[in-house]
Amino acid sequence: MTDIIIAIDGLSSTGKGTFAKRIASALDIPYLDSGAMYRAITLYGLRSGIIEWNGEIDQHALQEALLLNRVELSFVKGKDGESRIFLGDEDVSLKVREMDVARNVSPVSAIPFVRNFVDEQLHRLGSKGCVMDGRDIGTAVFPNADLKIFMVADASVRARRRVLQMEESGQKADYEEILKNVQERDFQDSHRAFHPLRKAEDAIELDNSDMTVDQQMVWLDAILRERFSLSVL
Ligand code: C5P
Repeated sequence: MTDIIIAIDGLSSTGKGTFAKRIASALDIPYLDSGAMYRAITLYGLRSGIIEWNGEIDQHALQEALLLNRVELSFVKGKDGESRIFLGDEDVSLKVREMDVARNVSPVSAIPFVRNFVDEQLHRLGSKGCVMDGRDIGTAVFPNADLKIFMVADASVRARRRVLQMEESGQKADYEEILKNVQERDFQDSHRAFHPLRKAEDAIELDNSDMTVDQQMVWLDAILRERFSLSVL
């Protein structure tokens, strides 16, 4: 066990989560999925009517819900060793991956008080060492992270991977709709005013369009050995 903090940022559906989980398991440190938190808040908003069918967000009601701790988020390790996200006492890990959440999450995550709420929890959970993935981990949440990785890949490759992932978990997936969603989220995430998606100056870029996860682990292993005398293989 090490107290290293590894920040993984990048475009939507670049496989940040899959990569992060493998690293966390190899180094025996927690994996924290910041996107799941934004997704769970969005799910809460959709269920409670705070986000309307046309995507309009009642920001006042959302802020009140966060302030009054009505949105209780937690990560719990499942029997399979996978980290699950809970909203109150409900496991919403699958629900937060559905398309209605994906369609609404970027506007929710652009709201400064939502970002502050999530950042605070991420800090508390991750400061003793973790692998955390998201859009602003290396730039805003842990600007002093020991290692920062910025992941990119072709949009079509990313959409195909997402389709496979959804089908594997029994969800319906439409390639064109997913491709459009991936591109829209990239645009919205990198153009918002507060903590936009961008590569930190000291981040190492990883284009995994033509790489398997095993190849990514080999790539990372060389960096970890050289800089931290750690290995993930
Ligand atoms: O990573 P994932 O696709 O699950 O994230 C869902 C959405 O949450 C992203 O499209 C982005 O709008 C938002 N997000 C963010 N900052 C993070 C993580 C996710 O704005 N650190």
